[in-house]
Amino acid sequence: MAIREISPQQALARQAQGARLVDVREADEHALGTPAQALCVPRAQLESDPAGTAPDHDTELLLICAGGVRSLGAAQALQAQGYRNVASVAGGYQAWLAAGLPVDARRDADFMERYSRHLRLPQVGIEGQEKLEQARILMVGAGGLGSPVAFYLAAAGIGFIRLVDDDVVDRSNLQRQVLHTEARIGQPKVASAVQSLSALNPRVRIDAVQARVTADNVDALMADVDIVIDGADNFPTRYLLSDACVRHGKPLVYGAVHRFEGQVSVFDAGRRRGESPCYRCLFPEPPDARDAPNCAEAGVLGVLPGIIGLIQATEAIKLILGLGESLDGRLLNFDALAMRLRETRLRPDPQCPGCGNGGPVG
Ligand SMILES: [Zn+2]
Repeated sequence: MAIREISPQQALARQAQGARLVDVREADEHALGTPAQALCVPRAQLESDPAGTAPDHDTELLLICAGGVRSLGAAQALQAQGYRNVASVAGGYQAWLAAGLPVDARRDADFMERYSRHLRLPQVGIEGQEKLEQARILMVGAGGLGSPVAFYLAAAGIGFIRLVDDDVVDRSNLQRQVLHTEARIGQPKVASAVQSLSALNPRVRIDAVQARVTADNVDALMADVDIVIDGADNFPTRYLLSDACVRHGKPLVYGAVHRFEGQVSVFDAGRRRGESPCYRCLFPEPPDARDAPNCAEAGVLGVLPGIIGLIQATEAIKLILGLGESLDGRLLNFDALAMRLRETRLRPDPQCPGCGNGGPVG
């Protein structure tokens, strides 16, 4: 006998009349919630032990899965075992959600909807999204690198972002610093950034610090964060950040751009002493200012910090979620003109003044 298929609305109405709604999806499919007051019994379990869910063969059972296919198969299996009153919900939980019917969810509706594409990834899921929500990031620089990093980290749901920059928005920034707008020229960059980031994701807490990172404030700025992201445009700040990250045992996600090229890496010498390099292992001495002009002097292709910044944001998210293979110990060089990525192995330098036996700095 053919299985009766009913709409989600009919299922809800039958449920109110005492029918038993059974969600036959696997537990890892519940990230977006389950139909309100449904029993959750994965299909294989329901088919092998239906009496555990419904001892009486006359019980009205409404089965629902993700799209309506598995529930139909399960309904057939139950009917073959003597259950006389079984129906499958057409379109499954997708149709249930689309119809706006009540759901049981671990988190509020804004959270579930905003992060739904993360929640669907088994490697992220609700646990991963909650890790992102609890994460605290120090982003140094609200310019070319800081713009894409902060935008995407805020969108991804990082709970707390401390943004440090002492500069004001200039028209020449707008070619690449997409956090800012024409109307905010002359405003502090961190104030402009707060407006953009809050408009994108009001759940994220932004701590805007209009200051330059110095030896006096660097420890306080990073004491209560999990990860530091370097979007600085000068060498003294990079060394300050690297040395402080080694002292505090925080991973440093490094990025730099120059004309048509960029580089990015993760330095984790503070937590993995002797195994991971620090920034000073790579650059023991600051280059001569004439050899290392900044963007204002040398120029930079506007899209370049976008690409490098998004790799930095990706690495930060991977570190928080504990996913994949980090750039720790690898330097990625990007050449936009050749459109090539080159990878260089980085090893800690035992004589490094930042993290090795050369003695701690600062
Ligand atoms: Zn080092």
